[in-house]
Amino acid sequence: MNEQYAVDVLICGAGAAGLTLAIELARRGIRFRLIEKSPEPFHGSRGKGIQPRSQEVFEDLGILDRLFAVGGVYPTERRYRDDGSVSEAHSIEHNVPTAAEPYQQPLMVPQFLTERVMRERLLELGHRPQFGCELVAFQQDADGVTAQLTDTAGTQAVRVRWLVGADGGRSFVRHALDVGFPGKTLGVRALVADVQLSGLTPDCWHRFGDGDLQRQIAVCPLAGTELFQIQAPIPLDVDIDLGAEGLTAFIASRTGRDDIQVHAVSWASAYTMNARLADHYRVGQVFLVGDAAHIHPPTGGQGLNTSVQDAYNLGWKLAAVANGAPQPLLDSYEEERRPVAASVLGLSTQLLDNLQRGDMRRGREVHQLDIGYPHSSLTLGNAGHRAPDAKLRGAAGQSVRLFDVFKGTHWTLLGYGVAPGSVLPRAGLQVHYIGAHAERVDELGQFQDAYALAIGEWVLVRPDGYIGAVVASADVERLEGYLLQVGLHPV
Ligand SMILES: Cc1cc2nc3c(=O)[nH]c(=O)nc-3n(C[C@H](O)[C@H](O)[C@H](O)COP(=O)(O)OP(=O)(O)OC[C@H]3O[C@@H](n4cnc5c(N)ncnc54)[C@H](O)[C@@H]3O)c2cc1C
Repeated sequence: MNEQYAVDVLICGAGAAGLTLAIELARRGIRFRLIEKSPEPFHGSRGKGIQPRSQEVFEDLGILDRLFAVGGVYPTERRYRDDGSVSEAHSIEHNVPTAAEPYQQPLMVPQFLTERVMRERLLELGHRPQFGCELVAFQQDADGVTAQLTDTAGTQAVRVRWLVGADGGRSFVRHALDVGFPGKTLGVRALVADVQLSGLTPDCWHRFGDGDLQRQIAVCPLAGTELFQIQAPIPLDVDIDLGAEGLTAFIASRTGRDDIQVHAVSWASAYTMNARLADHYRVGQVFLVGDAAHIHPPTGGQGLNTSVQDAYNLGWKLAAVANGAPQPLLDSYEEERRPVAASVLGLSTQLLDNLQRGDMRRGREVHQLDIGYPHSSLTLGNAGHRAPDAKLRGAAGQSVRLFDVFKGTHWTLLGYGVAPGSVLPRAGLQVHYIGAHAERVDELGQFQDAYALAIGEWVLVRPDGYIGAVVASADVERLEGYLLQVGLHPV
């Protein structure tokens, strides 16, 4: 740690992206500060769907079981038709978990509960967000950033090596960098509100007026709470009363029912939908993650998930460079993550069009399991895809999940039928051998099914669970070159 810096990383914003980055840095022992201008945690449900790929990320961060314990599965949808008929259906495809993809259903957790679980994890790692502290200005040079922070004690300057703007769609950091945020306003305004109400049961997602923008309204029980989340498109230019009485009247106007009564509103917002992508994710020593870099409609439940995975991509790279890895590693963040957001923009806008026509179906395309970085400068050989799970047998006879082998901050090198000793372990790299008489046996053939390696091949898995390299034993020198490129030096 260079003493010219108060900390290595200043994270501006303690939403889902900032908290993920903080956990990633904390578990690697990197010095950082996480500031949040709000005096207290955000308490709205907003992004309530945790997609299968984010579930894998949260498993690695050590919070998946906690999230399942506080959240729940998506309920079926009950559609109320004008002729008085009612039908029930799943809008979410139900796929069976497989050995390679253990999580197949979105998990419902209101965002305020997800963030609470993340803050608890951060506390376990010895850190907490500093609430009521706002970034108000910064200047950068080639070595770092000088940031002005304001809290109740006044304004102070801090010198940091990197600043990360995890400060949401209206990002102060993005504006200050003068990074363009092109895209479009979609001409759709929506209401979202977390309420206590009577007149509807908490066993399903109630949908009225599907396919008619003037009359659509959905009321979903929020898993882990006694609240319901109301969502409805609203006119662009009409003031909506977001109080309990106003929402009761609004529901009656959409459903024709006066037995649905809102008793309390814990959070509500009326917002205009946009689809925008930042021109750059990095300017010098400053990065953008999450909504600061991309915003899109909530359809498909991609916003929070994409934000978390931005931070998951950047975190290990910042830590590696802080610990001496070559600087170009950081360039791969924008290279890998910006195309992902570009495709999410297209997907969520398409799903919004479908929704307006009454088509609510969502399938694998929203699960984010097919995201990968095959064209990244960090990818060597036929690699870049998500590293699947598989069950192996340990030499001691126990069952071993690959995801448990990957879990943590290290890289993992798996040698398939490779003679031990040709690549030496080093700090940050765990080397494991798989074979009939090796430390791990592919007894069920799940590893071979998922990875399809030839005998004698190596597969290198990055700390964020993507395959960085696949190389034959004869090419071990290329593997050594790759390991140096990402800062993994022999001890
Ligand atoms: C109304 C609404 C409904 C949504 N519905 C869904 C949904 O159904 N599904 C889904 O996946 N996503 C949804 N989203 C999107 C999802 O909530 C976001 O993608 C997610 O919150 C992004 O996380 P983030 O950490 O990048 O930003 P945010 O959660 O916005 O966090 C940014 C934080 O930075 C703080 N901050 C800002 N400026 C400063 C500063 N200068 N100094 C210090 N702190 C600062 C803010 O106070 C805030 O806490 C919705 C969003 C909105 C607004």
